[in-house]
Amino acid sequence: MNEIFLMKLGEIVLKGANKRQFENKLRQNVRRRMRPFGNFDVYIMQSTVYVVPEDDMADVDGAWEACHCIFGVVSLCRCRPCEKNLDAIFNAIEEYLGEDLDCAKSFKVESKRSDKQFPMTSIAISQEIGGRLAEAHPNVEVDVHNPEYTVYVEVRDLAAYVHGPAEPGAGGLPTGVGGRAMCLLSGGIDSPVAAYMIAKRGVEIECVHFFSYPYTSQLAKDKVLELARIVTKYSGRMTVNIVSFTQIQEAIRDNCPEEYFTLIMRRFMMEIAQKLAKNDGCGALITGENLGQVASQTMEAMTVTGAVVDIPIFMPLVGMDKEEIVTISRKIGAFETSILPYEDCCTVFTPKHPKTKPTIGQLLHAEAKLDRQAMIEKAVETVERIQVRYHDEPRI
Ligand code: ATP
Ligand code: MG
Repeated sequence: MNEIFLMKLGEIVLKGANKRQFENKLRQNVRRRMRPFGNFDVYIMQSTVYVVPEDDMADVDGAWEACHCIFGVVSLCRCRPCEKNLDAIFNAIEEYLGEDLDCAKSFKVESKRSDKQFPMTSIAISQEIGGRLAEAHPNVEVDVHNPEYTVYVEVRDLAAYVHGPAEPGAGGLPTGVGGRAMCLLSGGIDSPVAAYMIAKRGVEIECVHFFSYPYTSQLAKDKVLELARIVTKYSGRMTVNIVSFTQIQEAIRDNCPEEYFTLIMRRFMMEIAQKLAKNDGCGALITGENLGQVASQTMEAMTVTGAVVDIPIFMPLVGMDKEEIVTISRKIGAFETSILPYEDCCTVFTPKHPKTKPTIGQLLHAEAKLDRQAMIEKAVETVERIQVRYHDEPRI
Protein backbone atom coordinates (compact mmCIF):
# COMPACT_ATOMS: atom_id res chain seq x y z
CA MET A 1 0.00 0.00 0.00
CA ASN A 2 2.47 2.60 -1.24
CA GLU A 3 -0.02 5.07 -2.54
CA ILE A 4 -3.68 5.78 -1.83
CA PHE A 5 -6.14 8.54 -2.73
CA LEU A 6 -7.74 10.85 -0.21
CA MET A 7 -10.82 12.69 -1.46
CA LYS A 8 -12.44 15.52 0.46
CA LEU A 9 -16.21 15.70 0.59
CA GLY A 10 -17.91 18.82 -0.72
CA GLU A 11 -21.32 20.15 0.27
CA ILE A 12 -22.19 16.82 1.88
CA VAL A 13 -20.36 18.00 4.95
CA LEU A 14 -23.06 20.65 5.37
CA LYS A 15 -25.96 18.26 5.11
CA GLY A 16 -26.58 17.73 8.83
CA ALA A 17 -28.97 14.87 9.48
CA ASN A 18 -28.69 13.45 5.96
CA LYS A 19 -24.93 13.31 6.07
CA ARG A 20 -24.79 9.56 6.71
CA GLN A 21 -27.10 8.82 3.78
CA PHE A 22 -25.04 11.07 1.48
CA GLU A 23 -21.82 9.44 2.55
CA ASN A 24 -23.19 5.95 1.98
CA LYS A 25 -24.27 6.90 -1.51
CA LEU A 26 -20.89 8.41 -2.29
CA ARG A 27 -19.08 5.33 -1.01
CA GLN A 28 -21.24 3.08 -3.20
CA ASN A 29 -20.63 5.31 -6.20
CA VAL A 30 -16.87 5.35 -5.70
CA ARG A 31 -16.80 1.56 -5.27
CA ARG A 32 -18.72 1.07 -8.50
CA ARG A 33 -16.54 3.53 -10.40
CA MET A 34 -13.35 1.82 -9.23
CA ARG A 35 -14.49 -1.66 -10.31
CA PRO A 36 -13.12 -1.49 -13.88
CA PHE A 37 -9.68 -0.64 -12.48
CA GLY A 38 -9.14 -3.61 -10.15
CA ASN A 39 -9.60 -4.20 -6.43
CA PHE A 40 -9.91 -1.09 -4.31
CA ASP A 41 -11.00 -0.71 -0.73
CA VAL A 42 -13.20 2.38 -0.31
CA TYR A 43 -14.19 3.83 3.05
CA ILE A 44 -15.14 7.19 4.53
CA MET A 45 -13.74 8.53 7.80
CA GLN A 46 -13.60 12.08 9.10
CA SER A 47 -15.27 13.58 6.01
CA THR A 48 -12.68 12.00 3.74
CA VAL A 49 -13.02 9.17 1.24
CA TYR A 50 -10.12 6.73 1.29
CA VAL A 51 -9.47 4.84 -1.94
CA VAL A 52 -6.93 2.10 -1.33
CA PRO A 53 -5.61 -0.22 -4.05
CA GLU A 54 -5.64 -3.74 -2.63
CA ASP A 55 -2.99 -5.34 -4.82
CA ASP A 56 -0.38 -4.58 -7.47
CA MET A 57 -2.77 -5.44 -10.30
CA ALA A 58 -4.88 -2.32 -9.73
CA ASP A 59 -4.76 0.31 -12.49
CA VAL A 60 -3.99 3.23 -10.18
CA ASP A 61 -3.64 5.86 -12.94
CA GLY A 62 -6.96 4.88 -14.54
CA ALA A 63 -8.66 4.97 -11.16
CA TRP A 64 -7.12 8.36 -10.41
CA GLU A 65 -8.51 9.84 -13.61
CA ALA A 66 -11.96 8.36 -12.92
CA CYS A 67 -11.97 9.83 -9.41
CA HIS A 68 -11.85 13.35 -10.90
CA CYS A 69 -15.32 12.74 -12.36
CA ILE A 70 -17.13 11.60 -9.22
CA PHE A 71 -19.67 14.12 -7.96
CA GLY A 72 -19.60 14.92 -4.26
CA VAL A 73 -15.81 15.29 -4.11
CA VAL A 74 -14.33 18.81 -3.91
CA SER A 75 -10.66 17.95 -3.98
CA LEU A 76 -8.46 14.90 -4.14
CA CYS A 77 -4.85 13.94 -3.73
CA ARG A 78 -2.62 10.93 -4.19
CA CYS A 79 -0.65 10.31 -1.02
CA ARG A 80 1.74 8.02 0.74
CA PRO A 81 0.61 6.54 4.07
CA CYS A 82 3.19 6.05 6.82
CA GLU A 83 3.48 5.47 10.55
CA LYS A 84 2.54 8.27 12.85
CA ASN A 85 5.99 9.41 13.95
CA LEU A 86 8.28 12.16 12.71
CA ASP A 87 10.98 9.87 11.29
CA ALA A 88 8.46 7.88 9.28
CA ILE A 89 6.78 11.06 8.05
CA PHE A 90 10.09 12.62 7.02
CA ASN A 91 11.22 9.44 5.22
CA ALA A 92 7.90 9.13 3.41
CA ILE A 93 8.19 12.72 2.15
CA GLU A 94 11.77 12.19 1.02
CA GLU A 95 10.87 9.06 -0.91
CA TYR A 96 7.53 10.12 -2.28
CA LEU A 97 7.89 13.88 -2.84
CA GLY A 98 11.65 14.51 -2.74
CA GLU A 99 11.99 14.96 -6.50
CA ASP A 100 9.03 17.35 -6.75
CA LEU A 101 10.49 19.35 -3.91
CA ASP A 102 13.87 19.62 -5.66
CA CYS A 103 12.17 21.10 -8.73
CA ALA A 104 10.71 24.00 -6.74
CA LYS A 105 12.39 27.27 -5.78
CA SER A 106 10.65 27.46 -2.42
CA PHE A 107 8.46 25.32 -0.17
CA LYS A 108 6.55 25.09 3.06
CA VAL A 109 5.03 22.28 5.08
CA GLU A 110 1.39 22.41 6.05
CA SER A 111 0.15 19.93 8.61
CA LYS A 112 -3.24 18.83 9.86
CA ARG A 113 -3.78 16.70 12.90
CA SER A 114 -7.20 15.12 13.08
CA ASP A 115 -5.87 12.51 15.55
CA LYS A 116 -5.86 14.70 18.65
CA GLN A 117 -3.96 12.00 20.58
CA PHE A 118 -0.87 12.74 18.52
CA PRO A 119 1.50 14.52 20.91
CA MET A 120 2.48 17.49 18.67
CA THR A 121 0.38 20.38 17.37
CA SER A 122 0.04 20.92 13.61
CA ILE A 123 2.35 23.93 13.79
CA ALA A 124 5.00 21.98 15.65
CA ILE A 125 4.82 19.15 13.08
CA SER A 126 5.23 21.64 10.20
CA GLN A 127 8.18 23.33 11.91
CA GLU A 128 9.99 20.10 12.71
CA ILE A 129 9.45 18.48 9.31
CA GLY A 130 10.09 21.78 7.51
CA GLY A 131 13.40 22.13 9.34
CA ARG A 132 14.53 18.64 8.41
CA LEU A 133 13.51 19.11 4.77
CA ALA A 134 15.32 22.46 4.57
CA GLU A 135 18.51 20.73 5.70
CA ALA A 136 18.07 17.88 3.22
CA HIS A 137 17.31 20.27 0.33
CA PRO A 138 19.61 23.27 0.81
CA ASN A 139 18.80 24.63 -2.68
CA VAL A 140 15.09 24.98 -1.97
CA GLU A 141 14.17 27.96 0.16
CA VAL A 142 11.63 27.91 2.94
CA ASP A 143 8.86 30.41 2.22
CA VAL A 144 5.81 30.15 4.44
CA HIS A 145 3.90 32.98 2.69
CA ASN A 146 4.24 32.32 -1.01
CA PRO A 147 5.82 28.91 -1.54
CA GLU A 148 6.07 27.39 -4.99
CA TYR A 149 5.46 23.94 -3.53
CA THR A 150 3.61 22.82 -0.44
CA VAL A 151 4.18 19.53 1.31
CA TYR A 152 1.10 18.38 3.21
CA VAL A 153 1.18 16.16 6.27
CA GLU A 154 -2.09 14.77 7.63
CA VAL A 155 -2.01 12.87 10.89
CA ARG A 156 -5.24 10.89 10.92
CA ASP A 157 -6.71 8.09 13.00
CA LEU A 158 -5.20 5.10 11.18
CA ALA A 159 -1.95 6.53 9.82
CA ALA A 160 -0.15 9.67 8.72
CA TYR A 161 -0.34 10.69 5.06
CA VAL A 162 1.98 12.89 3.03
CA HIS A 163 1.13 14.50 -0.28
CA GLY A 164 1.67 17.43 -2.62
CA PRO A 165 -1.01 19.94 -3.64
CA ALA A 166 -4.54 18.54 -4.03
CA GLU A 167 -6.39 18.70 -7.36
CA PRO A 168 -9.95 19.97 -7.81
CA GLY A 169 -12.67 17.30 -7.79
CA ALA A 170 -15.89 17.23 -9.82
CA GLY A 171 -17.83 19.08 -7.08
CA GLY A 172 -21.59 18.78 -6.77
CA LEU A 173 -23.51 16.12 -4.86
CA PRO A 174 -23.20 12.31 -5.02
CA THR A 175 -25.13 10.79 -7.91
CA GLY A 176 -28.44 9.39 -6.70
CA VAL A 177 -29.12 11.60 -3.68
CA GLY A 178 -31.29 13.94 -5.76
CA GLY A 179 -33.57 11.44 -7.52
CA ARG A 180 -33.75 10.78 -11.26
CA ALA A 181 -34.50 12.93 -14.28
CA MET A 182 -35.00 12.38 -18.01
CA CYS A 183 -32.86 14.48 -20.34
CA LEU A 184 -34.00 15.21 -23.89
CA LEU A 185 -30.70 14.55 -25.60
CA SER A 186 -30.15 15.85 -29.12
CA GLY A 187 -26.90 15.67 -31.03
CA GLY A 188 -26.08 19.31 -30.31
CA ILE A 189 -23.78 21.13 -27.93
CA ASP A 190 -26.36 22.12 -25.33
CA SER A 191 -28.24 19.08 -24.13
CA PRO A 192 -25.21 16.99 -23.04
CA VAL A 193 -24.06 20.01 -21.00
CA ALA A 194 -27.56 20.30 -19.49
CA ALA A 195 -27.49 16.59 -18.54
CA TYR A 196 -24.07 17.02 -16.94
CA MET A 197 -25.17 20.05 -14.93
CA ILE A 198 -28.21 18.36 -13.44
CA ALA A 199 -26.22 15.16 -12.82
CA LYS A 200 -23.82 17.33 -10.86
CA ARG A 201 -26.62 18.13 -8.42
CA GLY A 202 -26.85 14.48 -7.42
CA VAL A 203 -29.46 13.46 -9.96
CA GLU A 204 -29.36 10.13 -11.81
CA ILE A 205 -29.79 10.68 -15.52
CA GLU A 206 -31.77 8.85 -18.13
CA CYS A 207 -32.01 10.15 -21.71
CA VAL A 208 -34.49 10.19 -24.55
CA HIS A 209 -33.60 10.88 -28.15
CA PHE A 210 -36.11 11.49 -30.94
CA PHE A 211 -34.85 9.82 -34.07
CA SER A 212 -36.20 10.51 -37.55
CA TYR A 213 -34.83 7.76 -39.74
CA PRO A 214 -34.30 8.05 -42.73
CA TYR A 215 -34.36 11.85 -42.53
CA THR A 216 -31.57 11.52 -40.00
CA SER A 217 -28.98 8.77 -40.39
CA GLN A 218 -27.70 5.93 -38.27
CA LEU A 219 -24.60 8.08 -37.77
CA ALA A 220 -26.73 10.77 -36.12
CA LYS A 221 -28.03 8.14 -33.69
CA ASP A 222 -24.51 6.86 -32.96
CA LYS A 223 -23.43 10.42 -32.30
CA VAL A 224 -26.14 10.83 -29.68
CA LEU A 225 -25.22 7.50 -28.05
CA GLU A 226 -21.59 8.62 -28.02
CA LEU A 227 -22.58 11.90 -26.33
CA ALA A 228 -24.52 9.89 -23.76
CA ARG A 229 -21.44 7.74 -23.19
CA ILE A 230 -19.36 10.85 -22.60
CA VAL A 231 -21.86 12.13 -20.02
CA THR A 232 -21.73 8.76 -18.20
CA LYS A 233 -18.12 9.50 -17.34
CA TYR A 234 -19.67 11.81 -14.74
CA SER A 235 -23.24 10.63 -14.29
CA GLY A 236 -22.60 6.89 -14.18
CA ARG A 237 -24.31 4.39 -16.49
CA MET A 238 -27.61 5.38 -18.03
CA THR A 239 -30.45 4.20 -20.24
CA VAL A 240 -31.00 6.00 -23.54
CA ASN A 241 -34.53 5.72 -24.95
CA ILE A 242 -34.64 6.03 -28.73
CA VAL A 243 -38.06 7.12 -29.94
CA SER A 244 -38.90 6.71 -33.66
CA PHE A 245 -40.17 10.12 -34.51
CA THR A 246 -40.52 9.89 -38.28
CA GLN A 247 -44.23 9.09 -38.46
CA ILE A 248 -45.09 11.85 -36.02
CA GLN A 249 -43.08 14.38 -37.99
CA GLU A 250 -44.66 13.29 -41.26
CA ALA A 251 -48.14 13.55 -39.75
CA ILE A 252 -47.35 17.05 -38.53
CA ARG A 253 -46.04 17.98 -41.98
CA ASP A 254 -49.14 16.64 -43.68
CA ASN A 255 -51.79 17.96 -41.28
CA CYS A 256 -50.62 21.16 -39.60
CA PRO A 257 -49.78 24.75 -40.64
CA GLU A 258 -46.11 25.12 -41.39
CA GLU A 259 -45.36 28.00 -39.04
CA TYR A 260 -46.23 25.73 -36.06
CA PHE A 261 -44.22 22.65 -37.14
CA THR A 262 -41.40 23.07 -34.65
CA LEU A 263 -43.65 23.93 -31.73
CA ILE A 264 -46.01 21.02 -32.34
CA MET A 265 -43.07 18.69 -32.68
CA ARG A 266 -41.59 19.95 -29.42
CA ARG A 267 -44.91 19.44 -27.64
CA PHE A 268 -44.84 15.81 -28.78
CA MET A 269 -41.27 15.46 -27.54
CA MET A 270 -42.17 16.82 -24.14
CA GLU A 271 -45.21 14.67 -23.66
CA ILE A 272 -43.51 11.47 -24.81
CA ALA A 273 -40.49 12.27 -22.63
CA GLN A 274 -42.78 12.77 -19.64
CA LYS A 275 -44.50 9.40 -20.22
CA LEU A 276 -41.15 7.63 -20.39
CA ALA A 277 -39.97 9.58 -17.35
CA LYS A 278 -42.94 8.58 -15.25
CA ASN A 279 -42.58 4.92 -16.30
CA ASP A 280 -39.01 4.94 -15.03
CA GLY A 281 -39.43 6.93 -11.83
CA CYS A 282 -37.93 10.18 -13.14
CA GLY A 283 -39.31 13.26 -11.39
CA ALA A 284 -38.29 15.93 -13.91
CA LEU A 285 -37.32 16.57 -17.51
CA ILE A 286 -34.08 18.27 -18.58
CA THR A 287 -33.54 20.23 -21.80
CA GLY A 288 -30.69 22.28 -23.20
CA GLU A 289 -32.94 25.21 -23.95
CA ASN A 290 -31.43 28.66 -23.83
CA LEU A 291 -33.45 31.83 -23.83
CA GLY A 292 -33.54 33.56 -27.19
CA GLN A 293 -31.16 31.16 -28.96
CA VAL A 294 -33.66 30.05 -31.62
CA ALA A 295 -37.29 30.76 -32.50
CA SER A 296 -38.61 27.95 -30.29
CA GLN A 297 -36.77 29.34 -27.28
CA THR A 298 -38.80 32.45 -26.51
CA MET A 299 -40.86 32.64 -23.32
CA GLU A 300 -44.06 32.23 -25.31
CA ALA A 301 -42.69 29.16 -27.08
CA MET A 302 -41.55 27.67 -23.78
CA THR A 303 -45.02 28.25 -22.38
CA VAL A 304 -46.72 26.26 -25.13
CA THR A 305 -44.16 23.45 -25.09
CA GLY A 306 -44.14 23.26 -21.29
CA ALA A 307 -47.94 23.23 -21.11
CA VAL A 308 -48.19 19.54 -22.07
CA VAL A 309 -46.28 18.31 -19.01
CA ASP A 310 -46.90 18.52 -15.28
CA ILE A 311 -43.46 17.67 -13.89
CA PRO A 312 -40.69 20.30 -13.65
CA ILE A 313 -38.59 21.00 -16.73
CA PHE A 314 -35.03 21.81 -15.73
CA MET A 315 -33.22 24.09 -18.18
CA PRO A 316 -29.85 24.63 -16.54
CA LEU A 317 -28.50 26.58 -19.54
CA VAL A 318 -31.41 28.96 -19.87
CA GLY A 319 -29.47 32.08 -18.88
CA MET A 320 -26.00 31.20 -20.12
CA ASP A 321 -24.08 32.59 -23.08
CA LYS A 322 -23.00 30.18 -25.81
CA GLU A 323 -19.36 30.70 -24.84
CA GLU A 324 -20.02 29.59 -21.28
CA ILE A 325 -21.83 26.51 -22.55
CA VAL A 326 -18.99 25.68 -24.94
CA THR A 327 -16.46 25.99 -22.12
CA ILE A 328 -18.31 23.32 -20.13
CA SER A 329 -18.83 21.20 -23.23
CA ARG A 330 -15.06 21.18 -23.79
CA LYS A 331 -14.35 20.51 -20.15
CA ILE A 332 -16.49 17.37 -20.12
CA GLY A 333 -15.04 16.20 -23.43
CA ALA A 334 -18.27 16.44 -25.42
CA PHE A 335 -17.52 19.35 -27.74
CA GLU A 336 -15.61 17.56 -30.49
CA THR A 337 -18.41 15.00 -30.80
CA SER A 338 -21.19 17.61 -30.60
CA ILE A 339 -19.83 19.55 -33.56
CA LEU A 340 -19.69 16.54 -35.89
CA PRO A 341 -21.94 17.49 -38.77
CA TYR A 342 -24.77 14.95 -38.55
CA GLU A 343 -28.24 16.41 -38.83
CA ASP A 344 -30.80 16.56 -36.01
CA CYS A 345 -34.51 15.84 -36.33
CA CYS A 346 -35.29 19.48 -35.45
CA THR A 347 -33.74 20.56 -38.73
CA VAL A 348 -36.07 18.30 -40.75
CA PHE A 349 -39.21 20.17 -41.75
CA THR A 350 -38.08 23.47 -40.25
CA PRO A 351 -40.63 26.20 -41.04
CA LYS A 352 -39.45 29.18 -43.07
CA HIS A 353 -41.19 31.59 -40.71
CA PRO A 354 -41.61 29.94 -37.33
CA LYS A 355 -44.06 31.44 -34.87
CA THR A 356 -42.13 33.15 -32.10
CA LYS A 357 -45.07 34.39 -30.01
CA PRO A 358 -47.52 31.50 -30.07
CA THR A 359 -50.46 31.01 -27.72
CA ILE A 360 -51.86 27.76 -26.38
CA GLY A 361 -55.12 28.39 -28.24
CA GLN A 362 -53.28 28.67 -31.55
CA LEU A 363 -51.43 25.43 -30.88
CA LEU A 364 -54.56 23.49 -29.98
CA HIS A 365 -56.12 24.71 -33.19
CA ALA A 366 -53.04 23.88 -35.27
CA GLU A 367 -52.90 20.34 -33.84
CA ALA A 368 -56.64 19.68 -34.16
CA LYS A 369 -56.38 17.15 -36.99
CA LEU A 370 -53.91 14.92 -35.11
CA ASP A 371 -54.85 12.08 -32.79
CA ARG A 372 -52.11 13.10 -30.40
CA GLN A 373 -52.74 10.55 -27.67
CA ALA A 374 -52.74 7.57 -30.05
CA MET A 375 -49.53 8.83 -31.70
CA ILE A 376 -47.89 9.28 -28.30
CA GLU A 377 -48.95 5.83 -27.08
CA LYS A 378 -47.48 4.23 -30.18
CA ALA A 379 -44.19 6.08 -29.84
CA VAL A 380 -43.88 5.03 -26.21
CA GLU A 381 -44.69 1.40 -26.99
CA THR A 382 -42.08 1.13 -29.72
CA VAL A 383 -39.25 2.81 -27.85
CA GLU A 384 -35.82 1.19 -28.09
CA ARG A 385 -33.88 1.16 -24.81
CA ILE A 386 -30.09 1.13 -24.91
CA GLN A 387 -27.82 0.80 -21.87
CA VAL A 388 -24.78 3.05 -22.02
CA ARG A 389 -21.67 2.82 -19.84
CA TYR A 390 -18.48 4.80 -20.03
CA HIS A 391 -16.39 1.68 -20.50
CA ASP A 392 -18.30 0.67 -23.62
CA GLU A 393 -16.46 1.08 -26.91
CA PRO A 394 -16.80 4.62 -28.35
CA ARG A 395 -19.64 4.66 -30.87
CA ILE A 396 -17.96 6.93 -33.38
P1 ATP B 1 -28.90 21.25 -28.54
O1 ATP B 1 -27.56 21.90 -28.74
O2 ATP B 1 -29.01 20.54 -27.22
O3 ATP B 1 -29.32 20.43 -29.72
P2 ATP B 1 -30.29 23.49 -29.58
O4 ATP B 1 -29.64 24.75 -29.22
O5 ATP B 1 -30.01 22.90 -30.92
O6 ATP B 1 -29.94 22.45 -28.43
P3 ATP B 1 -33.09 23.04 -30.04
O7 ATP B 1 -32.79 22.28 -31.26
O8 ATP B 1 -34.16 24.09 -30.05
O9 ATP B 1 -31.82 23.74 -29.40
O10 ATP B 1 -33.48 22.03 -28.92
C1 ATP B 1 -33.72 22.46 -27.61
C2 ATP B 1 -33.68 21.25 -26.70
O11 ATP B 1 -34.66 20.29 -27.10
C3 ATP B 1 -32.39 20.49 -26.79
O12 ATP B 1 -31.41 21.06 -25.96
C4 ATP B 1 -32.80 19.14 -26.33
O13 ATP B 1 -32.93 19.10 -24.92
C5 ATP B 1 -34.17 18.99 -26.94
N1 ATP B 1 -34.09 18.32 -28.26
C6 ATP B 1 -33.99 18.85 -29.48
N2 ATP B 1 -33.93 17.90 -30.45
C7 ATP B 1 -34.00 16.73 -29.82
C8 ATP B 1 -34.01 15.35 -30.23
N3 ATP B 1 -33.90 15.01 -31.51
N4 ATP B 1 -34.10 14.40 -29.28
C9 ATP B 1 -34.17 14.73 -27.97
N5 ATP B 1 -34.18 15.99 -27.53
C10 ATP B 1 -34.10 16.98 -28.42
MG1 MG C 1 -30.31 20.94 -31.49
